Amino acid sequence: MTASLDRAACEALDAADPLAPLRERFLLPERVIYLDGNSLGALPRTTAARVARTVETEWGRDLITSWNKAGWIGLPRAVGAKIARLIGAEADEVVVCDSTSVDLYKLAAAALSLNAPRRVILAEAGDFPTDLYILQGLAGSVGAELRMVAPEAIEGALDQTVAVLVLTETNYRSGEIHDMAGLTAKAHAVGALTVWDLSHSAGVLPVDLNGAEADFAVGCGYKYLNGGPGAPAYVFVARRWHERFRQPLSGWLGHARPFSFVDDYTPAPGIDRAQCGTPPVLSLVALDEGLNSFEGVEPKALYEKAGRLGDLFIALVEQRLSGHGFEIASPRDPARRGGQVALRHPEAYAICQALIDRGVIPDFRAPDVVRFGLVPMYVRFADLWDAVEVLLQVMQSGAWKDARFAVRAAVT
Ligand SMILES: *Cc1c(COP(=O)(O)O)cnc(C)c1O
Repeated sequence: MTASLDRAACEALDAADPLAPLRERFLLPERVIYLDGNSLGALPRTTAARVARTVETEWGRDLITSWNKAGWIGLPRAVGAKIARLIGAEADEVVVCDSTSVDLYKLAAAALSLNAPRRVILAEAGDFPTDLYILQGLAGSVGAELRMVAPEAIEGALDQTVAVLVLTETNYRSGEIHDMAGLTAKAHAVGALTVWDLSHSAGVLPVDLNGAEADFAVGCGYKYLNGGPGAPAYVFVARRWHERFRQPLSGWLGHARPFSFVDDYTPAPGIDRAQCGTPPVLSLVALDEGLNSFEGVEPKALYEKAGRLGDLFIALVEQRLSGHGFEIASPRDPARRGGQVALRHPEAYAICQALIDRGVIPDFRAPDVVRFGLVPMYVRFADLWDAVEVLLQVMQSGAWKDARFAVRAAVT
């Protein structure tokens, strides 16, 4: 594809793209090129009406009877079952509840107690901050030891002292993918358990938790799964752990009989014991619609397109932006790269703001990365041509030097 890269060539890729019609499932504003769906997925066309119906009819008219009548109480499992298909799990191994941060705490704590007296948590330095912060908090509260090592040192650090390996499969900054099956096997070989964070994997890569014999996993509902801002997260517990799995946030919705109102906690059989408190119904129906946008879509096909989008983007950056100080900070091999491409530049923050000002929306990740999310459901090949064109203008004109682009917002 390198010889004849122009806009027409990109349009031809869109015309031949079997996934192109999926874009119609989303409401995207005109004249915006959205390259941040890996941070907040776009709005599915059906979500607003579904949430309105839940509010007006189920809540407004039917009031509390909707817990049974509309099936609200079953939503955590029903939505979990839709996620299961995307991550290589069985329907009864996944439940939606709480946030990724909270769920990670529950799973890492459960893994630690399953593997006592071992007390070492092994994690990756540079992993997504909340994962590391949560593990620091957990280690402090239960007297465990957190070992954080560089990605290339993980294998070597797996020894007989490790209780649990906690890793994000796809790195949030570089998009580099860990070998889940290989590392899980190595962890098991030394007697360690695994907790995988799938936040940047599910919905764009063909994740195969059971194929990899993973023990536990968590992931985020508002990125590739299109659940909306602050959507709840999901928990996977492999069926072989269902009986022995105990998590510390033993709220009533994880009880075997929540409506018996007894004083003592008895965990529910199966994955339901991962739940804690009352499910966030409005957020759950929005996430359900986000998952409906995957109907008839195979993760393999999404991943194949994400790889081609990434290859095109890298080729365009190299052809058109050479001499402007960008460095590709993601793997070039699409098999090792998730659904994003990161560009490193000393002025990354201001450049990112100048792009957003011109209707091209990536995001900035400190200290020096502009991250471009190439979500295969709605990003077009021609969008990448246009985005690189705008980036070229920003660099050539020096537009990023405008003082207002140096002001840091609360959320980057
Ligand atoms: C997005 C993301 C989270 C988000 O956690 P919240 O509890 O929803 O804020 C956690 N971990 C990783 C790896 C993520 O990418």
